[in-house]
Amino acid sequence: MITSNSLDDDKLREECGVFGVFNHEDSAALTTLGLHALQHRGQEAAGIVAYDGDHFHIHRAKGQVGDNFNTPDVIGRLRGHMSIGHVRYSTTGDSILRNVQPLFADFAFGGLAVAQNGNLTNARALRARMVADGQLFQSTTDTEVIIHLIAKSRSTGLVDRIVDAITHLEGAYSLVLISRKKVIGIRDPLGIRPLVLGKLEDSFVLASETCAFDIIGADFIRDIAPGEMVVLDENGIESHRPFPQQPSRFCIFEFIYFARPDSNVEGRSVYNARKSIGAQLARETGVPADVVVPVPDSGVPAAMGYAEAASLPFELGIIRNHYIGRTFIEPADQIRHLGVKLKHNPNREALNGKRVVLVDDSIVRGTTSTKLVEMVRRAGAREVHMRISSPPTDHSCFYGIDTPEREKLLAAKHSVQEMAAHIGVDSLAFISIHGLHRAMGEPGGRNSAMPQFCDACFTGDYPTPLTDHDHGSMGDQLSLLEETV
Ligand code: AMP
Repeated sequence: MITSNSLDDDKLREECGVFGVFNHEDSAALTTLGLHALQHRGQEAAGIVAYDGDHFHIHRAKGQVGDNFNTPDVIGRLRGHMSIGHVRYSTTGDSILRNVQPLFADFAFGGLAVAQNGNLTNARALRARMVADGQLFQSTTDTEVIIHLIAKSRSTGLVDRIVDAITHLEGAYSLVLISRKKVIGIRDPLGIRPLVLGKLEDSFVLASETCAFDIIGADFIRDIAPGEMVVLDENGIESHRPFPQQPSRFCIFEFIYFARPDSNVEGRSVYNARKSIGAQLARETGVPADVVVPVPDSGVPAAMGYAEAASLPFELGIIRNHYIGRTFIEPADQIRHLGVKLKHNPNREALNGKRVVLVDDSIVRGTTSTKLVEMVRRAGAREVHMRISSPPTDHSCFYGIDTPEREKLLAAKHSVQEMAAHIGVDSLAFISIHGLHRAMGEPGGRNSAMPQFCDACFTGDYPTPLTDHDHGSMGDQLSLLEETV
């Protein structure tokens, strides 16, 4: 989504989770639970839209799901047997209430609400054209561009209007929509972001990840296919394939960091994928050591895989305090720095006098690793060898994973050796790009002619045009309105 506000006009990034239910008398309660399970995908704001046969009901708020959808009163007002929901995560600057999703609009054909996970890479170009044409935007998210495209479409019938709208989009989008009759799920033609379909008795459910099905006891049916649009209504499920089929490019970083380890995405357990990546990391970058220690929580499965492959003991040398959000939430560098201390504590028992392999999933700015290495050394570690279960992150993501602009990525400016010195480790090594693809089931490593995943953050190989970026419009101010919330 495009986010724009006084502090952060040039950022084009957000991470999100989506959920939808068709045909359940407690649909809003199920959506609340589903969003709760998807909370790791977005902690800044949450919203639900429900339809009761007469009216749409909406509740959107800044903060976490549990803080805002926590009373029978709120859930009770979201009446109806169908609903969609969204959790949103933006990391710098103020969040703006008018950008909190789902976005609702009254169209000539009736009401429609949309929630999106992913980023469009041509939203600013589309928006500029529409604004020049006299269309008025209420928010600064790219999801509103989709709403305008649907409104403008000359096709008849909701499904055809939506199909017409999405053919104009570039980038990554997993969408859930709700109209008076239907709940609809859509994945972009490359399937960059996840979206899964499930069933709960006579109801259908859509979610970013399967962990959202587990919480409500729904059965997983299948992944929505790349480029597929699934329409859920009183006739059951209808599948549309509006795009020519092409090889998918699912985001490999979902497997490395973003998705929950207890989810199954693209037919694969995220947990097993992380363990295989960790094992490959050990084979490629093994070092004499006494103990393997994960950076909790995201480094845990990779560290387990590493320890097993290296035949080294796995120890919880760092304990995480779970009662604070992810470090990345803090906008200022000093606070992020402080956040790491608040969040982690060394476990001396496991570290003192040891040669430690410290495993994390990624180095972005290097803030986390620098603090943790210092902490592990102060707890008596004799040597610290940092091992990272992704290749160096030296390109920004334009598809919905938060990464800072390129200049702020440690790997974009420094060699691995310089990074090691910066972080203060005895040695630093990353999994290779081929090793990563091998661990993900490509025996020959990364096939550059036809890569199985989007790995642009490591390779710079962006699978869609970057229209907004290439036209230098990323820094354009989208709105003069400042909201104080
Ligand atoms: P940094 O301190 O900037 O190097 O960030 C690296 C840490 O942030 C690692 O421990 C990762 O688990 C975590 N991380 C990586 N990517 C993201 C992201 N997009 N959002 C939030 N946290 C992230």
